[in-house]
Amino acid sequence: MASRYVRVLAPWIVSLALVRAVDARQGAVERADPAVTRADIEACVRALAADELKGRATGTPECVRAGEHLAQALKRAGVAPAGDDGGYLQKVPFARVEYRSAPKLVAWTGAETKHERVQGIDFTFAGGVAGKRSRLRVKLVTKAEEMPAAPDEELALFLDGSQRERQEWLGEGRGAGYGMLITPGTKTPGKEADSRAPRSRDLPGEMARSSTARIQANGELLAGLRDGTIEALRLELESDYTELPAFNVIGKLAGVGTAERPELAQEAIVFSAHYDHIGLDARAAEGADRIRNGADDDASGCAAVLELAEAFAAGPPPARTLIFFFATGEEIGLVGTHHYINYPVVPLERTAANLNFEMIGRPDELIGGAGKLWLTGFELSNLGPRFRELGLAIESDQRPDQNFFQRSDNYAFAIKGVVAQTLSSYNLHRDYHQVSDEPATLDYAHMESCVRAALEAARALADGRIDPAWAPGKNPKR
Ligand SMILES: [Zn+2]
Repeated sequence: MASRYVRVLAPWIVSLALVRAVDARQGAVERADPAVTRADIEACVRALAADELKGRATGTPECVRAGEHLAQALKRAGVAPAGDDGGYLQKVPFARVEYRSAPKLVAWTGAETKHERVQGIDFTFAGGVAGKRSRLRVKLVTKAEEMPAAPDEELALFLDGSQRERQEWLGEGRGAGYGMLITPGTKTPGKEADSRAPRSRDLPGEMARSSTARIQANGELLAGLRDGTIEALRLELESDYTELPAFNVIGKLAGVGTAERPELAQEAIVFSAHYDHIGLDARAAEGADRIRNGADDDASGCAAVLELAEAFAAGPPPARTLIFFFATGEEIGLVGTHHYINYPVVPLERTAANLNFEMIGRPDELIGGAGKLWLTGFELSNLGPRFRELGLAIESDQRPDQNFFQRSDNYAFAIKGVVAQTLSSYNLHRDYHQVSDEPATLDYAHMESCVRAALEAARALADGRIDPAWAPGKNPKR
């Protein structure tokens, strides 16, 4: 609802106003230090992981403030904005739905014969909100040709097919614009009536655009929908649908190519880290620390990307175009990065690589300790071997069982075919996702060495010494 949206956004507007006031007082914005130093790295980590930002959960005003801090830092570095409307922020759809009643379903078997259907027995509620129309005509779909030409909010679409078929039939729209979506549940009715309101839930990214109610039909209801005796349905459900603020932060340095290869200017390298974290620990004891600061995860990676941005912005223009990308919503399913991929600054076909940074705050003894990073999916592309040839302290991932290649924002790029890997030194420490992931636990000397190595790797990507490519047969594109 609009009023709640404004309430959620209000602290963010205040913080923006303060930032602008400070800028105006100081006149010209103070220029960032282009050198990679532990002091700069620590300052970035301490700002993002400060208790005041309450663990930067996506959708909170504190997370927006963290993003605004990074936007200001990019501005001070002299990196051009590449978000929406000439700014650094790219809005990412994000919403929350809260339910105030248990869902009830009324079914019509003829023009006037109504039957109330019971949650838990006849149907299972699977999300979304009830539409404005009270009585929805049932439309049975068993193959693609039976799909309506366009979404219709007067229709309750009964998709009688496998999960894969249903996804194909709905396509990109995912059911947005229909009154309700029904899928087959179990053939037998459920055991117990369920009169509870559904739990509130977050709708990230594209899901926030389609709030169409979804139910699974069981038993008699399922049979009646299949044989056509149930002609119309009405879902009764009270809910609040609230849009929440979420933004990626994006800066850009335009490439100029080289004398031999002017076309490099058209290609981009995306340097990324996520700035969201998982917020407050609701299970913490009364009076205890409940702020999950996310210093290592992933304020540390953000500090690295910011140092790269400052270093490149202070030097000559790069050959390839460089994108500095701070993602939101990583912790809730790479939401910000999936959004970026749909609305990239440089088209993905011309995005040569994504080098992502995750948890570089502590040394990992498995790769030789301080000053060393490892690259996820080392053997999947030529990046790791090329970094090695350049003599950089970047090793292979020693814990393939942990599946780190798939556990960060790089993966969203990789499944689109972009060479995309993550640099990390996460040593499986116990502070991961805990209130104890504090700035004081990080090793800033280690980080300084790592960021220097990463900057050399980044320069080789930026100037065209490395042409990123998947190893033969290893492109994870889906
Ligand atoms: Zn992370």
